[in-house]
Amino acid sequence: MSILVVGSVALDSVETPHGSVDAALGGSATFFSVAASYFAPVRLVAVVGTDFAEEHVAFLRSRGVDLEGLERREGKTFHWKGRYTGDMNEATTLATDLNVYAEFDPKLPAAYRDSDYVFLANIAPDLQYRVLDQATRPRLVTADTMNLWINTAKADLLRTLQRVDILVINDGEARLLSGEANLIKASRAILRMGPSRVVVKKGSHGAISLTADSYCVTPAYPLEEVADPTGAGDTFAGGFVGYVASAGAADERAIRNAMLFGTALASFDVEDFSLNRQRALTRAEIDRRVEELREFVSTD
Ligand code: AMP
Repeated sequence: MSILVVGSVALDSVETPHGSVDAALGGSATFFSVAASYFAPVRLVAVVGTDFAEEHVAFLRSRGVDLEGLERREGKTFHWKGRYTGDMNEATTLATDLNVYAEFDPKLPAAYRDSDYVFLANIAPDLQYRVLDQATRPRLVTADTMNLWINTAKADLLRTLQRVDILVINDGEARLLSGEANLIKASRAILRMGPSRVVVKKGSHGAISLTADSYCVTPAYPLEEVADPTGAGDTFAGGFVGYVASAGAADERAIRNAMLFGTALASFDVEDFSLNRQRALTRAEIDRRVEELREFVSTD
């Protein structure tokens, strides 16, 4: 059950009340791939510049991520600069330097075209669309997006959404995309745009999943300190899609479990900057945290 992801592989400069990093490994596809790699084989499509360190490539390879689709181009790697303050639920973007992404035209290697599970990580929606044109038989298409694209490329995004099964976004983006303040109304409005399921992440307040006839909720893992929320959304998505792929089904029961795995993975991500926590993370630690999450809502 292979997973295809297209998105950004980036160097991030991030400031939070707990410290900062400069040009650290990041990117939506990076966080997603590493999280999903605990569950199923991952194939990555992205572009980096000549400044992208070999140690980052080696790390992704050590997680078993297939890098045939990682293009290396003359120029600089995508760079994102952001700051988190207050409750750290949302980043303030200080800089988005597209660099090699400015001319990126995603090409799926022949061996990737038959991928069963496709994840369109945060990247320009017209690039997401072009990936779908090349996938021959996806069983499930899941996508993410962000305020930048909702504000600047809404028509492209709406076109892509018509081909998406599950949209995984945060609460602020759901409100912005739908124009509805109430999250249930917002989710229903998004269902009318194409996806059959919407998963809304609410940061430290957990996540909800909604379809035309189902609703479920997952608590957030209670952490007293969040070092750096960067990548939490993509990491959630990686655990979520990874679990669904490993279960081989996207029924309501699998989705509920997938939300718990996504939540557990995201809680590890925010404990440290960049992907530092993930470097030594084991599947056993993930499973233990999922069991704790189950306990939190159990009435037995
Ligand atoms: P998240 O915190 O899960 O929403 O995602 C954070 C990651 O998204 C960072 O590692 C950034 O490199 C990446 N990112 C930020 N802005 C963009 C953008 N406009 N396009 C693609 N990736 C982005």
